[in-house]
Amino acid sequence: MFSCTEELTRYSPQDRLRRHSLSLRAERGARIAADESRIGNGLLRALDGAVLEEVMPYLERVPLKRRQVLHERNLPVMYAYFIEQGLASLMARADDQCMLEVGTLGREDFVGLPVVLGTTRTPHRCVVQVPGEAWRISADDLQALLNRIPALRQLLLTYVQATNVQSAQLVVCNSRHSLRQRLARWLLFAHDQVEGNEIALTHQFLGRALGVRRAGVTTAMGRLEEAGMILRGRGRIVILDRARLEGEVCDCYRAIRSEYKKITCDSGSEPAYRIAC
Ligand SMILES: [Zn+2]
Repeated sequence: MFSCTEELTRYSPQDRLRRHSLSLRAERGARIAADESRIGNGLLRALDGAVLEEVMPYLERVPLKRRQVLHERNLPVMYAYFIEQGLASLMARADDQCMLEVGTLGREDFVGLPVVLGTTRTPHRCVVQVPGEAWRISADDLQALLNRIPALRQLLLTYVQATNVQSAQLVVCNSRHSLRQRLARWLLFAHDQVEGNEIALTHQFLGRALGVRRAGVTTAMGRLEEAGMILRGRGRIVILDRARLEGEVCDCYRAIRSEYKKITCDSGSEPAYRIAC
């Protein structure tokens, strides 16, 4: 333990400023970690309190704007994001004209898997579809935390497993199940990720998400609306009857959800969304 006088002589003014800044950041992190209501992301909520307190000083709350690119294909990933609200799409190139959605990310998700896997680039683009907010961390800070905190690394590797299961199941779903079932799966997943029952999306985007023409989505949506499960508005969809939508969906939805449930339910944390443990 050093006295104030010893500290003044031991450290340069720049060092003292840096230490003061780190101390303020740690205090702010501890305050946020102590107030769990400020954290909606399922992965952060699954962290043990002491670990969360260690991680929070490195996170910055940022808005997510519609069409914002969180990482671009084949360029270095500069930041990772723990999504709090909103939806983002992981897009893969289909041809020179078109990119298709290969993953939908919301408040249970994390953007920045290349960092966890020890690489810096990805062939996928991640773009915000529904505006919201996220906790952002620089790739360098995240890499340092992953090296220092085994529990954080383990959590994010478990999340990698869940995303692998999702990718494989989507291949099965897209080749074997009807557009109506796939649409129900997508709507239920999106509903899990947003507050309330309204999802701000266009038919055009849903076409890209499901890999079909917009006209096909419009027809399938019309049938769900006639059955009273959803209501379509301009650039938005309202979920009216979730239980019936769950009756409509294929088993892929539950297969994917069960992997995500393992992350939060095994941790003993309260899930921040609709799926019960
Ligand atoms: Zn399916």
